[in-house]
Amino acid sequence: MSNSFLGCDISYDEAKIVIFGAGFDGTTSNKPGARFAPVVMRQESYGLETYSPYQGKDLEEDTKVHDAGDLELVGRSAATAVDMVEEKAEQILSDGKIPLMIGGEHLMTLGAVRAAAKKYPDLHIIHFDAHADLRKDYMGEELSHATVMRRCYDIVGEGKIFQVGIRSGTKEEFSFKAEHLAQNLDGFMDKPIYFTLDLDVLDPSFMPGTGTPEAGGMNFLELLNDILHLQKFNVVGCDIVELAPNYDPSGISAATACKVLRELLITISITS
Ligand code: MN
Ligand code: MN
Repeated sequence: MSNSFLGCDISYDEAKIVIFGAGFDGTTSNKPGARFAPVVMRQESYGLETYSPYQGKDLEEDTKVHDAGDLELVGRSAATAVDMVEEKAEQILSDGKIPLMIGGEHLMTLGAVRAAAKKYPDLHIIHFDAHADLRKDYMGEELSHATVMRRCYDIVGEGKIFQVGIRSGTKEEFSFKAEHLAQNLDGFMDKPIYFTLDLDVLDPSFMPGTGTPEAGGMNFLELLNDILHLQKFNVVGCDIVELAPNYDPSGISAATACKVLRELLITISITS
């Protein structure tokens, strides 16, 4: 067993996709713990096969993924943590590679989106989540995992964010979503896409290990099906966030997160 995520042992120079961990959970409103996700996912990944029977491809043989380890974010302010993520993602993008961030709480996505939008001014975002994350502020704070997609909207603008799985938010957030976000994926096909996956989009019966579990979500196969559709898109950056492994002593949540990540890495490798 190495220190990298399963099958992601290639050198940085050779890699097309670069994983990095952003284990920050300082603004988590309900139950913190996402800081532990990157380390736990790497360990847990060795319970998986590198081969995906869904895609007929092998993570080790058919992808070029480097695992760059974790940023040291615990104890930093939210703003500093976001800046550090931005810097890391910017470096990876400027080297012509795709950043894949393992959160951490969802706020960390803002740093990666900032970096991606600098390189790709016409960036579009596909956002899977139980929560709209469109609050203007949360307890007066502009930087929060409850505001992250609103901050992303401030960057990319009208009609460029498409959300899937949303089943929680304020009335204002749902109005904002109806008015300012994309209502379908028409026009996303030939655009640079940032894909952000808040794992609480899955039903808590499959993913209890998360900071804000929300009943009524999709199952693994439904999520997998959507991830496989990403092959049609030009994904330039992505993340998987909000696993809080310690709330699930069975380990199912971490194991599921790893399987989702394996499929995501293979999917993106097919198009990149
Ligand atoms: Mn979220
Ligand atoms: Mn969420």
